[in-house]
Parts: sequence; C-alpha cells; structure tokens
Amino acid sequence: MVLTGTFKDLLSKRFGKKVRFDEPMARHTAFRIGGPADVLVSPETVDDIVDLLRILDGEKAGWFVMGGGANLLVRDGGIRGVVIAPSPGLSEIQVVEEKPERASLKAQSGAFLWDVSRFAAGRGFDGLAFAAGIPGTIGGAVMMNAGTAEGDMSGVLADLEIVCGPGERLSVDRKELEFAYRSLRLPPDAAGYEGRPGIVVSATLQLSRKKPEMIGREMDRQLAERKQRQPGGFSAGSFFRNPPDAPAAGELIDRAGLKGFTVGGAVVSQKHANFIINRKNASAGDVLVLMEIIRKRVNEASGVVLEPEVKVVGEPG
Ligand SMILES: Cc1cc2nc3c(=O)[nH]c(=O)nc-3n(C[C@H](O)[C@H](O)[C@H](O)COP(=O)(O)OP(=O)(O)OC[C@H]3O[C@@H](n4cnc5c(N)ncnc54)[C@H](O)[C@@H]3O)c2cc1C
Repeated sequence: MVLTGTFKDLLSKRFGKKVRFDEPMARHTAFRIGGPADVLVSPETVDDIVDLLRILDGEKAGWFVMGGGANLLVRDGGIRGVVIAPSPGLSEIQVVEEKPERASLKAQSGAFLWDVSRFAAGRGFDGLAFAAGIPGTIGGAVMMNAGTAEGDMSGVLADLEIVCGPGERLSVDRKELEFAYRSLRLPPDAAGYEGRPGIVVSATLQLSRKKPEMIGREMDRQLAERKQRQPGGFSAGSFFRNPPDAPAAGELIDRAGLKGFTVGGAVVSQKHANFIINRKNASAGDVLVLMEIIRKRVNEASGVVLEPEVKVVGEPG
C-alpha cells in the first residue's frame, strides 16, 4: 500500500496522537519481534473504530487488528496498511448483572484478560480463574478461545459487540459463534477486511458466584503451577498447537531432542519445549527457521505434523 500525504493527513486530523507512522511492531509484541507497521492507530472509543473503518473503506486501505500481541509473530518486513490496536484505550470493565447465584460483566476488547479475571474474582464472580496469568486482551482471548485445561473463553462468553466491514456495529449472540480448540469462527456477517473477522469491541461474560477468597486461592494455585511449568523471557507462549490424538507438542519437541536448540537469537526453552524464546535480539526470520526445523525433526521422530498456534503476520524482511 502506498501511503499518500493526503491519507496520512486525514488520519492525523481525525486521530491526532492516537496515530503513529512506521511504528516498530517489536514494541507491541510479547516476543519483542517485528518490523514496522505503516500505520498504527490506538482507538479510545467505539466511535473511533467506526470512523476509522469508514475512512479505511473509503481509501481501500488494508488493516489488521491486534490485541496485546501475546500470540503474534510479526515478520521482519513489518505490516503494510493499518494496524488497529484497541489496547490500552478501549479497556472499560462494567458489571451488567449481580445476583446471588450468577453475575455478568461487560469488558471492552482492549482490557487485559488478567485484569478482567482479577476484577471478577474481587467481586466473587467465578469462572475466569483459568485466565490467571494468561497475557493479552479480551479481544485476543475471545478470538483465540484462550484457556488452559481448567477452562477457556467458550465457557463464559455470552455475546459480543463487533464493528465490521465499513464501520457497522453488530451484536452477536454466543449461539452464532463456533468455538474450537484455540479458535473462534464469527458468523459471515461479522466480516472485516478481505474475509478476515471484524473487530471485537466488547464481550459480555456470564459467570457464577463464589466467595472471593476461594476464587483467589484457586487463581494463586493456577499461577504457581504456571510459574513452575513455563519459562520467563520474551515469547508468544506455546508456539505449536497440541496435536489431536498424540502427545502434547512440548513432549514431542523434547523427544526430538530439541530443548536448547538455537537459531540466531531464538532458542527452544529448556524448561518447556513448546516455548520459543527470543533470547538475544532474535529476528522473525530466526524464529521461522527454527519453527521449520522443529516441524521437520518432530515429523521424522514421531510422524506428527505440528501446526503453529502463534499467528504469523506481515511481510518477509
Ligand atoms: C507467556 C505466555 C503465556 C501464554 N499462555 C497461554 C495460555 O495459557 N493459554 C492460551 O490460550 N494462550 C496463552 N498464551 C497466548 C496468548 O496469551 C493468547 O493467545 C491471548 O489470548 C492473545 O491475546 P492478545 O490480545 O495478545 O491477542 P494478539 O496476539 O494480539 O492477537 C491474536 C489474534 O486475535 C486477533 N484479535 C486480537 N484482538 C482482536 C479484536 N479486538 N478483534 C478481532 N480480532 C482480534 C488478532 O488479529 C490475532 O489473529 C500465552 C502467551 C504468552 C506470551
């Protein structure tokens, strides 16, 4: 996409400090990897998003929506067009219903899942303890159906508000959503750009009730387990999806003898083999070469083809 001066002026005039040009995506991903986005807009209201999609539709400009960047590998050439980042601007959390036996919350898509989980726990709203320690936003968590063996977003989501196509607002009930392991398919009328999904702007979560202390203890237990199992450092969490009817991806990578295997600045974690760590200024190229070596070696050792859970986006460097 060619960014004309007029287009830049139009965005600057409407969005002021909320728009940045040639923004390094490494600043916005948990991996700390990624070339520049032509434009990055951080909307602060739903109207900002509606206006932005109208402008982009009028200019025939491409866009990509991100959350906290916790599940993204942005290639070294960066992202052409406009990256829309509702976090941290769009992050309100509201109680919708509070009854002795149930409660519901509405969270805007830029709110951090971990904050929503703590907000719920503090009020005795149960059902989000699984989210303790999962990085990223509500928008990303919904679209990835984020979770653990203890639960996932499909267990609590009641409905979504979406901005789609050229800036239309749409409510989507959970009956219209197709959840699967670490994925969610929105109905066709909630489309965004070039067949991709529209932008989630808020989610209503249906929760049950429990004493805050009990939820707090459960969250502490899950956080402690996470600390014990998962490595620190810059990563995008589990790199590969766990394959069906086979041992977990980490187990397969370990069996292929790849713990500690390094390409450039990227290394397979010694603590959990399904984590690729950016140890020393890794490029996306390093991670992608390492990814292919892992896939080949695991396939040779176990006959399983691993598929990435991490979303790889952007242009090669
Ligand atoms: C240390 C670590 C541990 C992790 N542990 C777990 C875990 O236990 N369980 C788990 O499930 N995941 C885990 N992850 C992965 C990650 O936290 C989740 O996938 C998370 O839900 C991603 O949210 P995000 O906001 O960062 O989304 P991003 O990574 O920014 O985006 C992910 C996808 O969602 C889309 N998206 C984001 N926001 C919106 C929106 N508003 N509207 C429409 N589409 C949107 C993006 O286009 C992209 O396709 C871990 C990651 C790290 C770094």
